[in-house]
Amino acid sequence: MRVDVLGVGFDNLTLEEAAERGMELLRAEGPHYVVTPNPEIVEVCRENPAAREAVNGAALVLPDGIGIIKGAAMLGTPLKERVPGIEFAARLLERMAGEGMSLYLLGAKPGVAETAAERLREQYPGLRIAGVHDGYFQEDAPIVEDIRRSGADTVFVCLGAPKQELWMAKNGPDTGARLLCGLGGSMDVFAGTVKRAPKFWCEHGLEWFYRLCGDPRRLGRMMRLPLFLIHVKRERRKK
Ligand code: UDP
Repeated sequence: MRVDVLGVGFDNLTLEEAAERGMELLRAEGPHYVVTPNPEIVEVCRENPAAREAVNGAALVLPDGIGIIKGAAMLGTPLKERVPGIEFAARLLERMAGEGMSLYLLGAKPGVAETAAERLREQYPGLRIAGVHDGYFQEDAPIVEDIRRSGADTVFVCLGAPKQELWMAKNGPDTGARLLCGLGGSMDVFAGTVKRAPKFWCEHGLEWFYRLCGDPRRLGRMMRLPLFLIHVKRERRKK
């Protein structure tokens, strides 16, 4: 049973429940993929049916962003809590490390995935890094083959939305991995090239504002946020 927010169905889970579910998917026959849409991505899905299909086709759809939580509540179908992709990833890595599982890192600018791999290895002893590749490639086939050869259990796909969702839907089965997670800018955070907002900002639902201050080029994309709220209000009136 998913909670519909403007055509995207969200799983109603806490962060811990989502991580547990991720592990269940990892133990089951694959492939499965996880997406973490924010309001901006929901707006992209409204305009792009292929993106919407890829997002809704995921085994887990997690609400990344306070806007989704507010939108779901306004529609009278509240979600339990915000499940930021990066926190989901951290919980999953703890569990994977405990079981000696392996991870392939795909995405971000050249060199970033390597740095992320080094840091994650230190942070999660027991975690095996199966391979890395940057996110600026022309053809899918060599990457898919590299992942397959690596034997990775999980792949973090950080290509930005909706590119990563489309990539996972299309290529997931051929990678041989059991779980793929679309995590946007998380690779930069793992590598330490981008800092997460301090706790205060996150707790007050202002992470988006912190990120905007650090990278004003995000403003154009963020104009989709007020649009999202307008669409939620319109939808609420229809109910
Ligand atoms: N990216 C990539 N290949 C591309 C386009 C983007 O690897 O063709 C990477 C980019 O370098 C960045 C991430 O995808 O690391 C997208 O980050 P963004 O902050 O846009 O994602 P968000 O977390 O906001 O979805």
